[in-house]
Amino acid sequence: MSEQNTSAVGAESAQPWDETRIRASLARIEQLQNQLDALRFVIPTITASAVNQGTSRTTYFKQFSVTAIGGSEQLEKFKRDWRDKSTQEIFDKAKTRREEDSNLSMAVGVPKYGWIEQDEGGSALSSTEVEDMKKTVEMWKEKHPEVKVNLEDEDSKAIVQYTAGPYRLHFTVARVVEDNRKQVYQVSCSGAKPVFAAMERCIASRPRTDRLYDTLDMLSAYSNLPTAQCATCKRLLDRQATIPAARRRKQSASPPAENGTDVEWDALHESCLSR
Ligand SMILES: [Zn+2]
Repeated sequence: MSEQNTSAVGAESAQPWDETRIRASLARIEQLQNQLDALRFVIPTITASAVNQGTSRTTYFKQFSVTAIGGSEQLEKFKRDWRDKSTQEIFDKAKTRREEDSNLSMAVGVPKYGWIEQDEGGSALSSTEVEDMKKTVEMWKEKHPEVKVNLEDEDSKAIVQYTAGPYRLHFTVARVVEDNRKQVYQVSCSGAKPVFAAMERCIASRPRTDRLYDTLDMLSAYSNLPTAQCATCKRLLDRQATIPAARRRKQSASPPAENGTDVEWDALHESCLSR
Protein backbone atom coordinates (compact mmCIF):
# COMPACT_ATOMS: atom_id res chain seq x y z
CA MET A 1 0.00 0.00 0.00
CA SER A 2 2.71 2.44 0.98
CA GLU A 3 4.66 1.41 -2.11
CA GLN A 4 1.64 2.17 -4.27
CA ASN A 5 1.23 5.56 -2.58
CA THR A 6 4.92 6.27 -2.98
CA SER A 7 4.84 5.59 -6.69
CA ALA A 8 1.60 7.53 -7.10
CA VAL A 9 3.10 10.58 -5.44
CA GLY A 10 6.55 10.09 -6.95
CA ALA A 11 5.26 9.66 -10.48
CA GLU A 12 3.44 12.96 -10.22
CA SER A 13 6.32 14.95 -8.79
CA ALA A 14 6.61 16.97 -12.00
CA GLN A 15 2.87 17.60 -11.89
CA PRO A 16 1.16 20.62 -10.37
CA TRP A 17 -0.27 20.33 -6.87
CA ASP A 18 -3.81 19.56 -7.97
CA GLU A 19 -6.50 17.91 -5.84
CA THR A 20 -5.45 14.35 -6.80
CA ARG A 21 -1.87 14.94 -5.75
CA ILE A 22 -2.88 16.64 -2.49
CA ARG A 23 -5.20 13.73 -1.63
CA ALA A 24 -2.45 11.21 -2.40
CA SER A 25 -0.07 13.23 -0.23
CA LEU A 26 -2.52 13.21 2.70
CA ALA A 27 -2.79 9.42 2.28
CA ARG A 28 1.01 9.24 2.37
CA ILE A 29 1.17 11.24 5.61
CA GLU A 30 -1.57 9.06 7.13
CA GLN A 31 0.41 5.96 6.15
CA LEU A 32 3.49 7.34 7.93
CA GLN A 33 1.31 8.06 10.98
CA ASN A 34 0.10 4.43 10.94
CA GLN A 35 3.71 3.19 10.76
CA LEU A 36 4.58 5.45 13.69
CA ASP A 37 1.58 4.14 15.66
CA ALA A 38 2.71 0.55 15.04
CA LEU A 39 6.24 1.43 16.22
CA ARG A 40 4.84 2.28 19.66
CA PHE A 41 4.32 -1.46 20.20
CA VAL A 42 7.93 -2.41 19.37
CA ILE A 43 9.52 -1.82 22.80
CA PRO A 44 6.61 -3.41 24.78
CA THR A 45 6.68 -6.54 22.57
CA ILE A 46 10.48 -6.85 22.88
CA THR A 47 10.15 -6.48 26.66
CA ALA A 48 7.30 -9.02 26.76
CA SER A 49 9.34 -11.55 24.80
CA ALA A 50 12.35 -11.00 27.11
CA VAL A 51 10.41 -11.66 30.31
CA ASN A 52 8.47 -14.61 28.87
CA GLN A 53 9.32 -17.42 31.27
CA GLY A 54 8.56 -21.11 31.04
CA THR A 55 9.79 -21.71 27.49
CA SER A 56 12.85 -23.64 26.36
CA ARG A 57 16.06 -21.66 25.76
CA THR A 58 15.74 -22.23 22.02
CA THR A 59 12.16 -20.93 21.91
CA TYR A 60 13.09 -18.03 24.18
CA PHE A 61 15.95 -16.99 21.90
CA LYS A 62 13.83 -17.48 18.78
CA GLN A 63 10.98 -15.32 20.10
CA PHE A 64 13.33 -12.62 21.34
CA SER A 65 15.41 -12.43 18.15
CA VAL A 66 12.41 -12.43 15.80
CA THR A 67 10.76 -9.65 17.82
CA ALA A 68 13.92 -7.56 18.04
CA ILE A 69 14.83 -7.96 14.34
CA GLY A 70 11.22 -7.34 13.27
CA GLY A 71 11.10 -4.14 15.35
CA SER A 72 14.36 -2.91 13.93
CA GLU A 73 13.18 -3.58 10.36
CA GLN A 74 9.93 -1.69 11.05
CA LEU A 75 11.97 1.28 12.24
CA GLU A 76 14.28 1.15 9.22
CA LYS A 77 11.30 1.08 6.85
CA PHE A 78 9.79 4.11 8.58
CA LYS A 79 13.09 5.98 8.27
CA ARG A 80 13.35 5.09 4.57
CA ASP A 81 9.78 6.23 3.89
CA TRP A 82 10.28 9.41 5.88
CA ARG A 83 13.45 10.35 3.97
CA ASP A 84 11.97 9.34 0.64
CA LYS A 85 11.99 12.07 -2.01
CA SER A 86 8.21 11.99 -2.40
CA THR A 87 7.71 12.51 1.35
CA GLN A 88 10.23 15.34 1.47
CA GLU A 89 8.44 17.03 -1.45
CA ILE A 90 5.25 17.05 0.62
CA PHE A 91 7.02 18.70 3.56
CA ASP A 92 8.68 21.22 1.24
CA LYS A 93 5.33 22.07 -0.29
CA ALA A 94 3.73 22.51 3.14
CA LYS A 95 6.57 24.82 4.19
CA THR A 96 6.31 26.92 1.04
CA ARG A 97 2.54 27.25 1.43
CA ARG A 98 2.91 28.26 5.09
CA GLU A 99 5.34 30.99 4.08
CA GLU A 100 2.95 32.20 1.40
CA ASP A 101 -0.05 32.24 3.76
CA SER A 102 0.38 31.61 7.48
CA ASN A 103 -3.38 31.50 8.17
CA LEU A 104 -3.95 27.79 8.91
CA SER A 105 -7.58 28.09 10.05
CA MET A 106 -8.81 26.14 7.02
CA ALA A 107 -6.73 23.13 8.15
CA VAL A 108 -8.98 22.64 11.20
CA GLY A 109 -11.71 21.22 8.94
CA VAL A 110 -9.42 18.71 7.21
CA PRO A 111 -9.89 15.17 8.64
CA LYS A 112 -6.74 13.47 9.89
CA TYR A 113 -7.79 9.97 8.83
CA GLY A 114 -9.56 8.24 5.97
CA TRP A 115 -7.26 9.44 3.16
CA ILE A 116 -5.71 6.02 2.53
CA GLU A 117 -9.10 4.47 1.78
CA GLN A 118 -10.05 7.38 -0.45
CA ASP A 119 -6.74 7.10 -2.29
CA GLU A 120 -7.46 3.41 -2.87
CA GLY A 121 -10.93 4.18 -4.18
CA GLY A 122 -12.85 2.97 -1.11
CA SER A 123 -15.13 4.90 1.19
CA ALA A 124 -14.00 6.06 4.59
CA LEU A 125 -15.78 6.59 7.85
CA SER A 126 -15.82 10.20 8.90
CA SER A 127 -13.21 10.86 11.57
CA THR A 128 -15.86 11.51 14.24
CA GLU A 129 -18.08 8.50 13.55
CA VAL A 130 -17.80 5.57 15.98
CA GLU A 131 -18.52 2.35 14.18
CA ASP A 132 -21.55 0.26 15.18
CA MET A 133 -19.71 -3.01 15.82
CA LYS A 134 -22.90 -5.08 16.03
CA LYS A 135 -24.02 -3.98 12.57
CA THR A 136 -20.61 -4.68 11.02
CA VAL A 137 -20.31 -8.07 12.75
CA GLU A 138 -23.76 -9.16 11.55
CA MET A 139 -23.00 -8.07 8.01
CA TRP A 140 -19.68 -9.93 8.14
CA LYS A 141 -21.18 -13.11 9.64
CA GLU A 142 -23.52 -13.46 6.66
CA LYS A 143 -20.45 -14.06 4.49
CA HIS A 144 -18.56 -16.20 7.03
CA PRO A 145 -21.09 -18.45 8.81
CA GLU A 146 -18.29 -20.92 9.66
CA VAL A 147 -16.64 -18.46 12.08
CA LYS A 148 -18.11 -17.96 15.54
CA VAL A 149 -18.26 -14.28 16.57
CA ASN A 150 -19.76 -13.14 19.87
CA LEU A 151 -20.08 -9.57 21.08
CA GLU A 152 -19.32 -8.58 24.67
CA ASP A 153 -19.03 -5.46 26.83
CA GLU A 154 -21.97 -3.58 25.31
CA ASP A 155 -20.90 -4.50 21.80
CA SER A 156 -17.45 -2.93 22.15
CA LYS A 157 -15.58 -6.25 22.02
CA ALA A 158 -15.85 -9.19 19.61
CA ILE A 159 -14.68 -12.73 20.37
CA VAL A 160 -13.75 -14.64 17.22
CA GLN A 161 -13.29 -18.42 17.45
CA TYR A 162 -12.73 -21.25 15.03
CA THR A 163 -10.55 -24.29 14.46
CA ALA A 164 -7.77 -24.48 11.88
CA GLY A 165 -6.46 -28.06 11.76
CA PRO A 166 -4.85 -28.71 15.17
CA TYR A 167 -5.10 -25.04 16.20
CA ARG A 168 -7.99 -23.68 18.23
CA LEU A 169 -8.03 -20.00 17.39
CA HIS A 170 -9.43 -17.49 19.86
CA PHE A 171 -9.14 -13.79 19.10
CA THR A 172 -10.42 -10.85 21.13
CA VAL A 173 -11.09 -7.69 19.11
CA ALA A 174 -11.53 -4.66 21.36
CA ARG A 175 -12.48 -1.23 20.08
CA VAL A 176 -10.49 1.63 21.53
CA VAL A 177 -11.56 5.19 20.83
CA GLU A 178 -8.60 7.49 21.26
CA ASP A 179 -8.73 11.12 22.47
CA ASN A 180 -8.71 12.46 18.96
CA ARG A 181 -11.80 10.30 18.20
CA LYS A 182 -9.78 7.90 16.09
CA GLN A 183 -11.02 4.37 16.68
CA VAL A 184 -8.66 1.42 16.51
CA TYR A 185 -9.30 -2.27 16.97
CA GLN A 186 -6.80 -4.02 19.22
CA VAL A 187 -6.56 -7.76 18.70
CA SER A 188 -5.23 -10.31 21.17
CA CYS A 189 -4.76 -13.97 20.37
CA SER A 190 -5.20 -16.40 23.28
CA GLY A 191 -3.09 -19.51 23.68
CA ALA A 192 0.36 -20.60 24.83
CA LYS A 193 1.86 -21.58 21.46
CA PRO A 194 4.66 -19.23 20.27
CA VAL A 195 2.91 -18.84 16.90
CA PHE A 196 -0.04 -17.17 18.68
CA ALA A 197 2.26 -14.49 20.11
CA ALA A 198 3.76 -13.98 16.64
CA MET A 199 0.26 -13.71 15.14
CA GLU A 200 -0.67 -11.08 17.71
CA ARG A 201 2.39 -9.00 16.79
CA CYS A 202 1.72 -9.36 13.05
CA ILE A 203 -1.94 -8.39 13.50
CA ALA A 204 -0.95 -5.34 15.59
CA SER A 205 1.28 -4.06 12.76
CA ARG A 206 -1.44 -4.42 10.09
CA PRO A 207 -2.64 -1.43 8.06
CA ARG A 208 -6.27 -0.32 8.62
CA THR A 209 -6.40 -0.86 12.36
CA ASP A 210 -9.53 1.33 12.33
CA ARG A 211 -11.56 -1.04 10.13
CA LEU A 212 -13.49 -3.84 11.87
CA TYR A 213 -14.64 -5.55 8.67
CA ASP A 214 -11.08 -5.75 7.36
CA THR A 215 -9.83 -6.93 10.74
CA LEU A 216 -12.39 -9.76 10.85
CA ASP A 217 -11.47 -10.70 7.28
CA MET A 218 -7.81 -10.87 8.29
CA LEU A 219 -8.61 -13.04 11.32
CA SER A 220 -10.63 -15.49 9.20
CA ALA A 221 -7.67 -15.77 6.82
CA TYR A 222 -5.87 -17.91 9.42
CA SER A 223 -8.06 -20.91 8.50
CA ASN A 224 -5.08 -22.23 6.48
CA LEU A 225 -2.66 -21.72 9.39
CA PRO A 226 -1.17 -25.26 9.42
CA THR A 227 -0.55 -25.49 5.67
CA ALA A 228 -0.14 -22.00 4.16
CA GLN A 229 3.22 -21.28 2.55
CA CYS A 230 4.83 -17.86 2.81
CA ALA A 231 4.11 -15.63 -0.20
CA THR A 232 7.61 -14.12 0.02
CA CYS A 233 10.00 -17.05 0.58
CA LYS A 234 7.56 -19.76 -0.64
CA ARG A 235 8.37 -21.96 2.35
CA LEU A 236 6.23 -23.35 5.15
CA LEU A 237 8.86 -22.87 7.88
CA ASP A 238 11.22 -19.92 8.20
CA ARG A 239 14.75 -20.11 9.62
CA GLN A 240 13.33 -20.15 13.14
CA ALA A 241 11.10 -23.11 12.14
CA THR A 242 7.95 -20.99 12.52
CA ILE A 243 4.91 -21.14 10.23
CA PRO A 244 3.66 -17.93 8.55
CA ALA A 245 2.06 -15.86 11.34
CA ALA A 246 1.05 -12.85 9.25
CA ARG A 247 -1.77 -12.32 6.80
CA ARG A 248 -1.70 -9.39 4.42
CA ARG A 249 -4.04 -8.37 1.65
CA LYS A 250 -2.86 -9.78 -1.68
CA GLN A 251 -1.52 -6.97 -3.84
CA SER A 252 -3.66 -6.58 -6.93
CA ALA A 253 -3.95 -4.07 -9.74
CA SER A 254 -7.59 -3.27 -8.97
CA PRO A 255 -8.65 -1.36 -5.85
CA PRO A 256 -10.09 -3.45 -2.99
CA ALA A 257 -13.82 -4.06 -3.16
CA GLU A 258 -16.21 -2.24 -0.86
CA ASN A 259 -16.29 -3.75 2.64
CA GLY A 260 -13.44 -6.10 1.83
CA THR A 261 -15.54 -8.65 -0.05
CA ASP A 262 -13.62 -11.14 -2.17
CA VAL A 263 -10.36 -10.09 -0.57
CA GLU A 264 -7.54 -12.57 -1.00
CA TRP A 265 -4.88 -12.89 1.67
CA ASP A 266 -1.21 -13.78 1.51
CA ALA A 267 0.39 -15.76 4.32
CA LEU A 268 3.79 -14.38 5.39
CA HIS A 269 6.39 -15.20 8.01
CA GLU A 270 6.89 -12.52 10.60
CA SER A 271 10.52 -12.37 9.47
CA CYS A 272 9.43 -11.92 5.83
CA LEU A 273 6.94 -9.08 6.49
CA SER A 274 9.33 -6.23 5.82
CA ARG A 275 11.34 -7.88 3.06
ZN1 LIG B 1 8.72 -16.36 4.44
